[in-house]
Amino acid sequence: MTSSTVRPGARHILVAGGGIPGLALALALKQAHGPALAATLCDPALASGGSRQRGRAYAVAAGARRMLERLGVWERLTGAAQPIHDMAISDSRLADPVRPVFLTFGQDREGEDPFAHMVEAEPLVEALLAGAREAGLVLDARGVSGARPEGRAMRVTLSDGESLAASLVAASDGARSRLREAAGIGWVGRSYPQMGIVATIGHARDHEGRAYEHFLPGGPFAILPLTRGGRLGHRSSIVWTERAADVPALLGGGPEEVLAEIERRFTLNLGALSLEDGPSAHPLAFGLARSYRAERLALLGDAAHVIHPIAGQGLNLGLADAAALAEAVSDALRLGMDPGGEDVLRAYERSRRFDALAMAAATDGLNRLFSNDVLPVRLIRDLGLGLVDRSPALKRFFIGEAAGLRGEQPRLLRGEAL
Ligand SMILES: Cc1cc2nc3c(=O)[nH]c(=O)nc-3n(C[C@H](O)[C@H](O)[C@H](O)COP(=O)(O)OP(=O)(O)OC[C@H]3O[C@@H](n4cnc5c(N)ncnc54)[C@H](O)[C@@H]3O)c2cc1C
Repeated sequence: MTSSTVRPGARHILVAGGGIPGLALALALKQAHGPALAATLCDPALASGGSRQRGRAYAVAAGARRMLERLGVWERLTGAAQPIHDMAISDSRLADPVRPVFLTFGQDREGEDPFAHMVEAEPLVEALLAGAREAGLVLDARGVSGARPEGRAMRVTLSDGESLAASLVAASDGARSRLREAAGIGWVGRSYPQMGIVATIGHARDHEGRAYEHFLPGGPFAILPLTRGGRLGHRSSIVWTERAADVPALLGGGPEEVLAEIERRFTLNLGALSLEDGPSAHPLAFGLARSYRAERLALLGDAAHVIHPIAGQGLNLGLADAAALAEAVSDALRLGMDPGGEDVLRAYERSRRFDALAMAAATDGLNRLFSNDVLPVRLIRDLGLGLVDRSPALKRFFIGEAAGLRGEQPRLLRGEAL
């Protein structure tokens, strides 16, 4: 930390974990408070330039996009964000010759904001890091191995044994959060008997900004439009959920066999296909922390909640946490209060717990409803999809939910300054 970037006596916030939510939180706070706040972000992945995220892409909802715009990150993403204009949902068996569309939804009017953009993780992390460097955030490529309260601070131990003091530690160190465990915060969770396979697929025809979610008995197969590129000129990201037991056989062959399996699900609607990146398979789980806080410690992102990727909302929830925590801490700093005080952390927890719980329950329910081939269940769910398709009010409700624009939102998600 250099003396030019931090005022003597400034409060110190330490963010453990430099995934997208952790980076967004640290950047928001440092931008808002400048030299009045010392902010350090620790993550061993910083040493490898965040390459862990290679080949990943996320659906960034409209609320999260507004936050990234406000932080000056969005403008650094020129050419790397593909709007999703609409989405088509089908329900069929794997062997069916066509994937009949039961529901479509998207922008109501020309010129209306898209409800989400697809953004590749690498440029997004790079843009956040560039903003962080510019704001004077200290980026430390050491891991956090422990933290314990010490007077009116937290004593944080780093992986090389060095220790430092912080007024507040924000744990965004992922689903297996070491800091959550060290603080004794319980976790309610279970694994899904499914895996999420992600890959980048090239195709000959333009997707025109349309996303597809094909509900298949093994799990949802999502096709999400990316910006132009690849060997065939156009690209989409797939998030392919399959029964975990079937994954080794599906991915065990050579690239041509894997592509043939993808083609059976993707269909040839967008012309010839190529495998541009991946596939990589990720275990899927459901989990919620019993509390989002302990003494001078706040959890955010996957350290606080892990949900099924069926609705592409995990990262969006993490960014909403970052927006809410940044707001609670920022307001406290402006009032001269202790940013790690119990009132601040309680306000943060209150503002976020219901949202995560509701989203975890909704995604779990959707996955149970759609990932099976039980005929009566199929009939009922297809009737439900048809009803939603014919109701503009219901469609607007679901689009608002997917865009992260319903209910009371933290200022950053509304596109306002902290
Ligand atoms: C198949 C799949 C598809 C998905 N698609 C979407 C999507 O389209 N949209 C969406 O919103 N969400 C999506 N998600 C969810 C999203 O990937 C996660 O919610 C998000 O990446 C969580 O970010 P995080 O920073 O909290 O955790 P992570 O991404 O796990 O990052 C944790 C960070 O903490 C660091 N770390 C770990 N331990 C320590 C330590 N001791 N000290 C310091 N640093 C540490 C790690 O190096 C890492 O950088 C998807 C998930 C899956 C599995």
